[in-house]
Amino acid sequence: MISKRHVCYWLLLVFYAPLALARTEDPPLLPTSFPLPLPQAEELTRAVHVAIFVGRPSVSIRVGDPFEIRATADQRLIFQGKGPFEASIQAQAQGIQVNSETYEVDSFILSTKGESIQVGTKSYRGQIRIAKTPQNALTVVNEVDLEEYVKGVLPVEASADWPMESLKAHAVVSRTFAVFKMIEKKSEPFALRDTVLSQMYGGSLVHQQATDQAVEATRGEVLTFKGQIFPAYFHAACGGRTADADLIWPVEPHPTLKGRLCHFCQGTKHYQWTLEIPLAGVEEVMQKNGYPAKNLKHLSFLDRDASGRVRTVTLEYARSEVNIPAGDFRTFLGYDRLRSLKADVEIENGRAKFRGFGWGHGVGFCQWGARGQAELGKSYQEILQFYFPASDLTRT
Ligand SMILES: [Zn+2]
Repeated sequence: MISKRHVCYWLLLVFYAPLALARTEDPPLLPTSFPLPLPQAEELTRAVHVAIFVGRPSVSIRVGDPFEIRATADQRLIFQGKGPFEASIQAQAQGIQVNSETYEVDSFILSTKGESIQVGTKSYRGQIRIAKTPQNALTVVNEVDLEEYVKGVLPVEASADWPMESLKAHAVVSRTFAVFKMIEKKSEPFALRDTVLSQMYGGSLVHQQATDQAVEATRGEVLTFKGQIFPAYFHAACGGRTADADLIWPVEPHPTLKGRLCHFCQGTKHYQWTLEIPLAGVEEVMQKNGYPAKNLKHLSFLDRDASGRVRTVTLEYARSEVNIPAGDFRTFLGYDRLRSLKADVEIENGRAKFRGFGWGHGVGFCQWGARGQAELGKSYQEILQFYFPASDLTRT
């Protein structure tokens, strides 16, 4: 299947070239390395906290086997049963309501002796933490063993029919990314989302034999660089050249997160794309996103980074000119429409004709390139070394 890709939620903060001189007011760059193991980080490399619902008014759960509900703060037992048990859970001003009963807690943890817990339409191993937000909505977090987590990522981010070495390489990349985020966000309620904002995660019902095998074959392996773990970003296809992380996002420059030529995704279905939109349609999208100017006459991609990706988009209106960060422009048009910033645009008869390469941000591991390398007989270690030069495989 074609899966949605990892897109970082801070794309909106992407570097804005015309403000380059105003760096003093910019937030500090996000870290790209942490020593591993951290003194107190053992638990951070074993379980993953992934949000499956954020800001929902209610959720439904189902447990088939004996279960317990304990207050997150003090582990106090507040409810238990033999199962099967079904409940509708809602946030209330005074606590969290489970069916008709309201418990005076801000957060509780549901665990079972059985294999999984159903939340909404999906099932999850591990335990489920449900917390009430100040806005009286619910945040639902799956606290799950790292390996089980990766088994729930691979079938939706890649595909069980991909060559085994590319699946093993992906397992290491996804595991590394998750552990990095657990360390980076250790004081936050969750480290990852289950969407393209982090990496897609489908719970336990999506597990497949081949992807499980790739996870087991690389159990505990993460990538490090000089003993430090780094965010092993990935994307669908680089379109010929990967990108420097620090040119795409406000992150610390990192020696292995640098762009490099990749011919291995060439000719695959995401290598090239075109998109045509009337200028009036672009104008409408811009207006919806807080740029009210009217009568868009032209748009151009002039400012590019070293990998050829656009950094700034210039929009020429009848009475004004607007420069916006290209990452914002891609967010506004939609990641699935303007698939990458490795693109050109021409205006013809009032229509913007985009022609581009690759799908995704272009940093790090190129999924379709990795698949291509595995088809050529490369091992997963060779594939990882290609996208993350001078990195090491380390066991957590
Ligand atoms: Zn590639």
